[in-house]
Amino acid sequence: MKPHDGLYIDGAWRPAAGGDLIQVVNPADEQVIGQVPAAGAEDVDTAVRAARAALPAWAATPPAERAARLTALRDVLVARQEEIAETVTAELGAPTKLSQVVHAALPIAVAGSYAELAATHPFEEKVGNSTVHLEPIGVVGAITPWNYPLHQIVAKAAPALAAGCTIVVKPAEDTPLTAQLFAEAVHEAGVPAGVFNLVTGLGPVAGQALAEHPDVDLVSFTGSTAVGRRIGAVAGGALKKVALELGGKSANVILPSADLAKAVNVGVANVMSNSGQTCSAWTRMLVHADQYDEAVELARAAAAKYGDRIGPVVNAGQRDRVRGYIEKGLAEGARLVAGGPDAPRERGYYVSPTVFADVTPEMTIAQEEIFGPVLTVLKYVDEEDALRIANGTVYGLAGAVWAGDEAEAVAFARRMDTGQVDINGGRFNPRAPFGGYKQSGVGRELGVHGLTEYLQTKSLQF
Ligand code: NAP
Ligand code: MG
Repeated sequence: MKPHDGLYIDGAWRPAAGGDLIQVVNPADEQVIGQVPAAGAEDVDTAVRAARAALPAWAATPPAERAARLTALRDVLVARQEEIAETVTAELGAPTKLSQVVHAALPIAVAGSYAELAATHPFEEKVGNSTVHLEPIGVVGAITPWNYPLHQIVAKAAPALAAGCTIVVKPAEDTPLTAQLFAEAVHEAGVPAGVFNLVTGLGPVAGQALAEHPDVDLVSFTGSTAVGRRIGAVAGGALKKVALELGGKSANVILPSADLAKAVNVGVANVMSNSGQTCSAWTRMLVHADQYDEAVELARAAAAKYGDRIGPVVNAGQRDRVRGYIEKGLAEGARLVAGGPDAPRERGYYVSPTVFADVTPEMTIAQEEIFGPVLTVLKYVDEEDALRIANGTVYGLAGAVWAGDEAEAVAFARRMDTGQVDINGGRFNPRAPFGGYKQSGVGRELGVHGLTEYLQTKSLQF
């Protein structure tokens, strides 16, 4: 796609007030592929005003009509699927197949689910002598990360629009082109001017201005726990609603009765996919002592097979950060069985698929989110030990349990402090609530639970 030199505000591409630009770089070859405006506080204010002005009419639009716009939006995403995949590959570096099968396809499923929910959700309930109306919360400020550039935007914009909210999105500086493509799709779908607005820009400038804007009613943020904490504090101070999807350090618990080879192979694939840049990745593999050596060998072989098929990480800073964690793992005494800190290629921000064995629960690489293709394999002695290790981080976003018997896996999963658990390799469900326990976040995205975040109740008594 051809980059726009403006911000999408009130239904049109408009120049930013200042002249600052963001260079967009392809992480696979380090070439600049375009530039977009870097919005300032004044631009954010213009966008929020547009969203505020559009709110009354959109909130009063019958849900069936909002559903029709979302269906149209879904259809545009389908028609432009190939272009979306190419754009994600160009600015994120994701391999083409992954861009097609996940980055372009998942948002279609999510947009479709909200088209359906807008049409079918009861926006009115009876409670005794009351009628409860579920009304849009108002103007949404959405701040999104680069790791799933389109999904992260659609997971906020689609439920916001379904609920009758208007929205201003500040996408990640690394992946603004996919965001611009989405704004084009919204426009093509006939969503009225001002209902959806896009301000490309830097986090500490445009992102902060949006989070702090007094006329934003709900701040919905996905990103790091450090930034999320600041946004939560700002929103708390202003008594506005906040939704936070933050980091993770999820456990993949392989119980002794499981199909070990399958559990390890799927576990390695889960971590290496998207070059490890998935907040819900199972980056800690927990294996019983009796099966430990076999599991490590399986993991080594699985990671080695990835070799050249893995994409780069998003930028030089992220590459250096991930390499720093690998060096820290070595320094703290973990045993490297695949990959390592060395650059596997001359150009591009690549990191080798890396596996560490002999990792103990208190090591930095077992506690902190690395957000790169790095798997840690930990040993447990019994189920209680496994549970302690699984729950022993500040995070609680996702996880996996493998066992010979589904009921055994479910019993373990119910004791995990985490928002979602895949049982014996259960598939991702774009309608199931997604979000974190503990420091992994506040609130839920996707499906009906995600819609509810954008609604508030008004009770009328009779
Ligand atoms: P990040 O630095 O927190 O950035 C996320 C977004 O916040 C970006 O749009 C960023 O802008 C913006 N931002 C940065 N500083 C800000 C500030 N002071 N005020 C307002 N906005 C600000 O995170 P990241 O490094 O891009 O993404 C990786 C992290 O996101 C990981 O920790 C990962 O686990 C987490 N994540 C969580 C989920 C989830 O659903 N739970 C999903 C994906 C990612 P810039 O792009 O300009 O920095
Ligand atoms: Mg950042």
